[in-house]
Amino acid sequence: VGVPILCYHKIGDPKGRSLNVLERDFLRQVGFLRRRGFRLAALDHFGTLPPRCAILTFDDVYVTTAEALLKVERDLDLSGTVFPVTACVGEVSEWDRDRARPLADWETLARLRDAGFEIGNHSETHRDLDEADDQELREEIIRAESELASRLGVSVRTMAYPYGRFDARALDVLRKRGYVAAVTTRSGIARRRGDPFRLPRIKISYSDGVGGLLYKMYIRPVLRV
Ligand SMILES: [Zn+2]
Repeated sequence: VGVPILCYHKIGDPKGRSLNVLERDFLRQVGFLRRRGFRLAALDHFGTLPPRCAILTFDDVYVTTAEALLKVERDLDLSGTVFPVTACVGEVSEWDRDRARPLADWETLARLRDAGFEIGNHSETHRDLDEADDQELREEIIRAESELASRLGVSVRTMAYPYGRFDARALDVLRKRGYVAAVTTRSGIARRRGDPFRLPRIKISYSDGVGGLLYKMYIRPVLRV
């Protein structure tokens, strides 16, 4: 059995795109994982996870997502990894274009860190790394990393590729800098012995609820669709 890595974007904002998830549905999904005996972990533990773990990941860290996580983390004993875009912290998600939404500020990210969430790298500007030249690619990764280190005092060890896009150059930079795992937007359940720098995830969307999560965890992998 592999490791389900759930991929969330916006929680608590019903307007807009299909990747928004209602807080109620998020709570039900976490409850479902717990009832199935899953422990929750952060991505930086990927290589050393005990059996039956799931990883929650939150890309971009919208204000509504951060608020929802901070509201429920203590009751639920949540754990997971948040991926802010360092140049846009406290601003809006310009890459969402006409659906841009406010992003959590540094103070809120510090509260998430204090609540036990791992802070991961999601690049400096949400640039498509596939299209960046060598120097831009390095800067996107390294500048984000140093900004997170200086603002939050964290040593970053994981990456979520913007748009899920990456190539061999990005993998090389991450490996050399001592990263331990990176997630893509490819659908699937991560295998423990798979390449830790090309990990697939289970993308959670608005309509999933518990049924959709169950389907994506247990049925879709068997159907290979
Ligand atoms: Zn993103």
